[in-house]
Amino acid sequence: MNVSDSEIVASVLKNAGYGLTHDPLVADVVLINTCAIRENAEQRVRRRLEFFRSRKRKHNPDLRIGVLGCMAERLRGKLLEQERLVDLVIGPDAYRDLPRLLKQVETTGQSAVNVELSREETYAEIAPVRYDSNGISAFVSIMRGCDNMCAFCVVPFTRGRERSRNAGTIVRECQDLFDAGYREITLLGQNVNSYVDGPIDFPTLVDRVSLVSPDLRIRYSTSHPKDCSEALLHVHLERPNVCNFIHLPVQHGNSDVLKRMRRGYTSEDYRELIKRARRICPDLSLSTDIIAGFCEETDAEHQDTLNLMSEIEYDHAFMFMYSERPDTYAARKFQDDVPPEVKKQRLSEIIELQNSISLKKNRQQIGNIHTVLVEGPSKRSDAQFCGRTDTNKMVIFDREMLQPGSYAQVEITDCTSATLFGTVRESSTHF
Ligand code: SAH
Ligand code: SF4
Repeated sequence: MNVSDSEIVASVLKNAGYGLTHDPLVADVVLINTCAIRENAEQRVRRRLEFFRSRKRKHNPDLRIGVLGCMAERLRGKLLEQERLVDLVIGPDAYRDLPRLLKQVETTGQSAVNVELSREETYAEIAPVRYDSNGISAFVSIMRGCDNMCAFCVVPFTRGRERSRNAGTIVRECQDLFDAGYREITLLGQNVNSYVDGPIDFPTLVDRVSLVSPDLRIRYSTSHPKDCSEALLHVHLERPNVCNFIHLPVQHGNSDVLKRMRRGYTSEDYRELIKRARRICPDLSLSTDIIAGFCEETDAEHQDTLNLMSEIEYDHAFMFMYSERPDTYAARKFQDDVPPEVKKQRLSEIIELQNSISLKKNRQQIGNIHTVLVEGPSKRSDAQFCGRTDTNKMVIFDREMLQPGSYAQVEITDCTSATLFGTVRESSTHF
């Protein structure tokens, strides 16, 4: 989501006459787009800020440093006190104001802050500048904010109320991307299932975007389990280019913990949803987010998370230690009382289990042929290309005569828990 927001910021600044550099050491303005979701995300930002501040002190007193996004929104003016030499503090709904604020900093020499949240801003008609893109896959933001108020989560405080972007501008952006050679779109929102623009709900939007071209792959993130509808699953079934993959974060396997987390479903509800999804879309690939060591979590409750993971067998998971965020419901109502070493132990059990499941699921793919969207050279070698399967698994294969942006039929020959390896059997520009 921050990548997508930074592309909007780049567009706003480009329209105001600013150029973009990939080298931070030659920049006149450095803007750090921040995350506040966990304490360690904020610590990383502070370390990065320290680097630029020392540069400003020692080499370039005219360097302007700005902090954008969720950490800016959470700390507001406090950031200016804590992080001296920061010139700008700008929340996620104030990016259109950046050129004015930068000018203000130039003319007054004073720092500037705008952390106002909006009920309307969706940056709907701004054409993102995809400055770091591979030219094949793009994020398209479809909504902003979140109204869910999960007990552990800072997002509703930093990103404000939920609002949906106009559907026409979304479809147009996807069409423009396809025309420019992009072949994969990920529709983005904190809770995409609650997208609504008049009569257009999320399944309808996904369907419309899928009609841009049968050769354009569609993904989305994040889908909230409490709102994931049958209609959406049917769109997956009916449209081959809507990928056979859903990220459906469960967070925990125990219903009492889910209640404390205020997620709005029980572990039984969630199991039912997965059964229904797999009935409608056989071979659906699933990923999840899991939090270890939430407030008051007992050993038995932790065991329920492991049990649920073993039962569902996710293809992939993002796994985190609980990190208390100031002012959230959990911070106000519960004790963050699981000792750090216990949190760590539980998280490593979760990670170990998931690695073994991912490896098992990947091994099951050996011998199967997948349609892979070719992205470009793999990280390790220019002689090999990488790309994703419909089910969102990364595959490495020999480069041969393939072009990025084309599709290839790849037979899976080997794997690790994170990556598949394969041999190209056929290639095509079509899906
Ligand atoms: N909107 C998405 C989640 C966005 S945040 C959803 O509801 O699924 C991404 C992930 O960060 C969450 O799914 C959760 O697993 C994790 N997370 C959020 N707050 C956290 C916290 N305080 N401590 C640890 N992990 C957290
Ligand atoms: Fe946070 Fe819950 Fe909203 Fe996701 S749905 S962003 S976890 S409050």
